[in-house]
Amino acid sequence: MVEGRTRAAWAQIDLDAVRGNVELLRRAVAPSAVCAVVKADAYGHGAVPVARAALEAGAAGLAVALVDEGIELREHGVTAPVLVLSEPAGEAAEAAARAGLTATVASAAGVTELARAARRVGTRVAAHVKVDTGMHRLGVAPEALHGLVAAVSAEPVLRLEAVWTHLAVADGVAEADRTFTALQLERFEKALAALPLRPPLRHAANTAGALFWPEARYDMVRCGIGMYGLPPSTAGREGPDPTGGAGTVARLRPALSLRARVSAVRELDAGARPSYGRLRPLPERSIVATVPLGYADGVRRALLAGGAEVLVGGRRRPLAGMVSMDQLVVDCGPDGAVAPGDEVVLIGTQGDEAVTAMEWASRLGTIGYEVVCGISPRVRRVYTGQGEGGGGREAG
Ligand SMILES: *Cc1c(COP(=O)(O)O)cnc(C)c1O
Repeated sequence: MVEGRTRAAWAQIDLDAVRGNVELLRRAVAPSAVCAVVKADAYGHGAVPVARAALEAGAAGLAVALVDEGIELREHGVTAPVLVLSEPAGEAAEAAARAGLTATVASAAGVTELARAARRVGTRVAAHVKVDTGMHRLGVAPEALHGLVAAVSAEPVLRLEAVWTHLAVADGVAEADRTFTALQLERFEKALAALPLRPPLRHAANTAGALFWPEARYDMVRCGIGMYGLPPSTAGREGPDPTGGAGTVARLRPALSLRARVSAVRELDAGARPSYGRLRPLPERSIVATVPLGYADGVRRALLAGGAEVLVGGRRRPLAGMVSMDQLVVDCGPDGAVAPGDEVVLIGTQGDEAVTAMEWASRLGTIGYEVVCGISPRVRRVYTGQGEGGGGREAG
């Protein structure tokens, strides 16, 4: 254990898995390029180490949600292109220019502001113009794309690098979803066709779009969730798989596991009700293990009602009571051979058993994205597969 970091609970990030996933995605979408989406601290995996691993595996660039996230990458020496997926305003526009980030523009005011920021910093900024084809969150209306592209082209301090859009239901298997994705792509095509020039890059697809919609790949795809080894949808994909997307999903490897060491073990009589609220009587005399992870770490209280299980000694074991802020209790059964210091896996594999982030997602009624993003900063991230020069397992 590293000095000052004595907590027996950690998230393990397998950078070999990240690299392998990026390579799978690259192969699936070639000749389109892969942009690695590392917003929200790389979905809780750690932006800087994941960005480096993704670039090593051939990602063409990176994308973040916020200018501050881009600056963090620059401060750690990442020199690859970094696209900010939102339109920076005011101070953020100037900071983006100074950090050499690529900015999204989605409004006339945004173009003016970005150009002013570029002049003030004395640099030229690459701009990706976003068109709203149906997500209805950000982006210029398709009819107004022409004018916005012209405004960017008219500013010598801006360099039009791309036109892009975002798909709302590319993971959907329902007929209505497929129809809507097709409609979004049609609107994108039409808006592109109306331009007097062909932008150097066009991009539209997230992981689901990249894998399930070959016609959405254009010059580049923006992959987040797939790179972390999680499927983009809880629904899974049924029926024929003409694009091979499901085959790629099946080969992705989850990069994150959540682990801890048992802090205490006690044998309790049937009927004992461990933890706050005394919610659950033990069905029989049982060994109960205490684990130093709780809801302040992102282990949600709702997991108890959701029937969550953790891995102890390679076996699935249920929670024995409510998750508290810093700790949880596990019912290891009457014959549970468990001792303080034993490793417990909350997400990940142990022996032949696995608990996935997707399992948590279905128990919590959410998506894998929210599970991994929800593992709080208090949980130390430990890296494996850092390659030569990594100098051990600690980072971030
Ligand atoms: C987050 C995000 C992505 C990545 O989506 P995944 O489903 O994680 O691949 C792509 N594009 C935009 C605009 C995003 O906000």
